[in-house]
Amino acid sequence: MSNTPLERSIFRSAVQMLRSRYGFWITSPNNAYLNDLQDAKLDVLVSFMNHREFMTNRHLSGKPESGCTVLGFCDYLYATPKIYINRTHAKSTTVVHELLHFVTHDNFRKKVPSLLNEGVTEYFTRKIQTKFHPTDEMADFKDDRQSYPDEYRRVGTLRTMVKVVLRPEALEARKQPIEIGRQRHREFMPDPTRGANTRHFVKKAYFEGDMRLIDMMCDIW
Ligand SMILES: [Zn+2]
Repeated sequence: MSNTPLERSIFRSAVQMLRSRYGFWITSPNNAYLNDLQDAKLDVLVSFMNHREFMTNRHLSGKPESGCTVLGFCDYLYATPKIYINRTHAKSTTVVHELLHFVTHDNFRKKVPSLLNEGVTEYFTRKIQTKFHPTDEMADFKDDRQSYPDEYRRVGTLRTMVKVVLRPEALEARKQPIEIGRQRHREFMPDPTRGANTRHFVKKAYFEGDMRLIDMMCDIW
């Protein structure tokens, strides 16, 4: 059975939520596929499938039989990568989660251990979910088994380590006022964080593929 009108609209609204929260950061060329979501284009991009059909397809795609791929997965094998959603078991956040995988920068996707990838993907999924549906009882992160709770927590720890433990000077440095008119002259007023500004580092790694930050995350993980 092809995508239903309801499934198409779920997909479109997930794209909207993703872009409204993180559109500014996304640099993956895959993002262009999300510009035109007319029915015909959308149906090439995403397939909602019944459980049996979905599992057969996942098997053919060689995906590991664990974790989030039970609910949905991204297939990067083709010129146009494709998203598959298990319509029998998908939760409200599954489409958002898979869309995040879809626009993850290649540098990040190919370099980091898969559980770090899942942890960060879950981290952004929850940010989006909390912003748009703060009280959604269907949210799949309430189902611990499917939602990488351990990896999610480790990403939180990783952020804290970078911000507070690894670069403690960054916190203090960020609080210092910048003298108006002097900050543009690097010789007189160098970067007040002394290169230690860790704001947005997860987004820079995940969406922009900043290798320095990706390596740092892999080291800490
Ligand atoms: Zn995943």
